[in-house]
Amino acid sequence: MASPGPGHPWCVQSEPVQGMGVLTLLREVMLRKSPNPAHLAIAECEARLQRQGRRVTVITQNINELHYCARSTNVLEIHGSLFKTSCMSCGNVAVSHKSPICAALEGKGAPEPNTSDAQITPHHLPRCEQGGCSGPLRPDVVWFGETLDSDILTRVEEELDRCDLCLVVPLPRPLWDHPAPCTGTP
Ligand SMILES: [Zn+2]
Repeated sequence: MASPGPGHPWCVQSEPVQGMGVLTLLREVMLRKSPNPAHLAIAECEARLQRQGRRVTVITQNINELHYCARSTNVLEIHGSLFKTSCMSCGNVAVSHKSPICAALEGKGAPEPNTSDAQITPHHLPRCEQGGCSGPLRPDVVWFGETLDSDILTRVEEELDRCDLCLVVPLPRPLWDHPAPCTGTP
């Protein structure tokens, strides 16, 4: 399957409402997930090496905060987090574990194929509470075609320059080959 681009339902630039729908549904799904043994092992590694005066930094493309759930403390999320919001008007970033993120997602977002689809419109999007801004919010995630945060990339480069051991754990397959929640889209 081709990677998301203009016209693809996961392309937030050409399909902003549908893209937002996918992101917010992913958020609802991930609220129900727990760290797996790999997350727990990495957190345990950090705790043990800290006791030896060493430091472990987790640099991840994951946007689900499961490393934090596993009690890793030093995490650089280069693709952002589903559990932060950014305002599309003023740019304010805020932590949010509110579920659902907006009323239109009440009862939506379960991974089961018979879950009804969420019909999200711009009117339904959550709103910024910063200083009466009321701009539309989106999950603070770097989406397909968007630019990575330069501050995070600088910190990643600093960590890679100074580390004495780097373990790279790849995804088993491209993200867009995974089923989209609720839609069944491959
Ligand atoms: Zn705002």
